[in-house]
Amino acid sequence: MNNMPENRYRQKKQYTDGETICIWGNEYSLQIIKTAVPDDIFMLFPGTGISPEALKKRFRHDMSVIELSGSNALLYVPFCHTGKNIKTANFPAGTEMSWKPSFEDRKAAYKTAVYGLFADKINEILHKWEKKTGLKCKSWYITDVLNYWGQCSSWGKDICFNINLLGRPLIFVEFVVLHELVHVMHMNHGPKFRAIMAIYMPDYKIIDKKYNSRIIRVI
Ligand SMILES: [Zn+2]
Repeated sequence: MNNMPENRYRQKKQYTDGETICIWGNEYSLQIIKTAVPDDIFMLFPGTGISPEALKKRFRHDMSVIELSGSNALLYVPFCHTGKNIKTANFPAGTEMSWKPSFEDRKAAYKTAVYGLFADKINEILHKWEKKTGLKCKSWYITDVLNYWGQCSSWGKDICFNINLLGRPLIFVEFVVLHELVHVMHMNHGPKFRAIMAIYMPDYKIIDKKYNSRIIRVI
């Protein structure tokens, strides 16, 4: 579909202020917000045997979040996101203010943040459909590929979802989640599979046709 909003942003992402990104089929203006991780936060974990460097590494991941607010997507990029910054034990006064996240900082923060956003939404949708259908997958994980939206393994009943679904409207994400969940029961796309799909999502064929086009990378 050439009219998908995400198609207009195929050029290489820079993860900078004001850049237009596409989440769940909607356009947002990316806003980079620097967040400082105070050094002394790591003193809260004395005697754990974990080095301050390891703790910082962990924290920087937990603290990269993206918040959708109106037409803005606020990306919180933690200070001390890079290896270079982690090695700096004490930041000289004023460092925080002048610090400019590098391309790598912004990309790493964006990746962590959108994976979190995506995982939360998939969990929500998956649980909803598991409840409705009575079907259950063993586990699920995220992939970043260009050749499928989701897959269900025949042996383990585990499902993977493509992070690039993040750019598509939620109705299509719902369709993909239900589709993979129905595979837990029927591995092929035969009459039984289609019958279950039609019960829970009567217009699934229309949704598929409308939004299932070439996969575009979101990161
Ligand atoms: Zn299938």
